[in-house]
Amino acid sequence: MSGGGASNAKRVIVLGSTGSIGVNTLDVIDHLNRTSPQRFRVVGLAAGRNASLLSQQAVRFGVESVALCEGGCDQLTTTATCFDGPDAALQLVQETDADLVVAAIVGVAGLPATLAALERGTDVALANKETLVAAGELVIPLAQRTGAKLLPVDSEHAAIWQCLLSRGNADTTNDHVVPGIDTAAVRRVVLTASGGPFRDADPADIYDATAEQALNHPTWDMGPKVTIDSATMMNKALELIEAHHLFQLPAERLTALIHPQSVVHGFVEFADHSVLAQLAPPDMRTPIQAALSHPQRPNGCSRQLDWTKLSRLDFTPPDGDRFPALGLAYRVIRVGGTAGAVLNAANEAAVDAFLKPRGTNPAVPFGRIVELVAEAMQAVPATPADTLDAVLDADARARAFVAEQLAAAAATPR
Ligand code: MG
Repeated sequence: MSGGGASNAKRVIVLGSTGSIGVNTLDVIDHLNRTSPQRFRVVGLAAGRNASLLSQQAVRFGVESVALCEGGCDQLTTTATCFDGPDAALQLVQETDADLVVAAIVGVAGLPATLAALERGTDVALANKETLVAAGELVIPLAQRTGAKLLPVDSEHAAIWQCLLSRGNADTTNDHVVPGIDTAAVRRVVLTASGGPFRDADPADIYDATAEQALNHPTWDMGPKVTIDSATMMNKALELIEAHHLFQLPAERLTALIHPQSVVHGFVEFADHSVLAQLAPPDMRTPIQAALSHPQRPNGCSRQLDWTKLSRLDFTPPDGDRFPALGLAYRVIRVGGTAGAVLNAANEAAVDAFLKPRGTNPAVPFGRIVELVAEAMQAVPATPADTLDAVLDADARARAFVAEQLAAAAATPR
């Protein structure tokens, strides 16, 4: 059966299993179980409220424990044990023995379960960038303490990971949480960005862009939150902060570059002026499989690069005036503490309002999203991010600030 029955199978929990990354993760596991010597057994699945897809997934992989974080266990059509409510993913992780947790819940909502996995010393394949942005100063020392590894799934970070894999003469006792890497000779890490649907647009013309326009991503097919973040380039801002924590590199060694074809996902410049890059079609199954099967490299199920159709690769530095989110990322890296939690929470609140205007959550113009994040960073000063409470408090204050601004704007006709 596709769940794999061998006792030496790697036991995997997928958090966010019904989202875009989760669905792709299960397809990769199914593929690897059928085609490679590596075996994976899915032992837990967590979703938001999609009980019907979660039921199908639980049956398909023979999963015994599931979680529905927004409730709805009574709608499941499986006999699996179901954790219900806001702490469901956390409980699933705490009560299920696993070798690997795939963290693919969108937003800071995924943070407590990820921390719980690391606390247990369980490796985490990290697709949830908000976890590191909001709480990198908690997550990295915790992983170092327990010996848990972080396997990057975000395509750019997966690319950088592959470029940084040690040449074999590195100090293997280093405390990197990303397995097998050596950053001693790194001059600069470059993350590529597609530039999203508004790459060449005049900011004035896209200020009132609709959700439909902003969701029309040119190269990647992703969930709505990350697609809007791509349109504002907040996604790249989050990823610069994520790279800072994952690879322990300072702001001046991290760069973003616009690359509309989304084929080169990242490159690393070394001290000897060599540059290594990772290329693949924009297909999340490639980085997901790299994380699941590390350090092996079995046959893939993702799309392959067609070299005959690869006539050009373009790279341009992003315009900081058009994409002010990038400047905010460097500020977060330099300030540290809860600055990342504030940036992330304000962005989550603003994007949510942009996508789902309703009663207490009035509509926000597209062009206001990043403005609100910048204003929140001014209004909510950074404090040390040394406890989960400090991070969640900063998160709550940033969300409250955005809600106040939106309510005030709704009361004043534009
Ligand atoms: Mg990415």
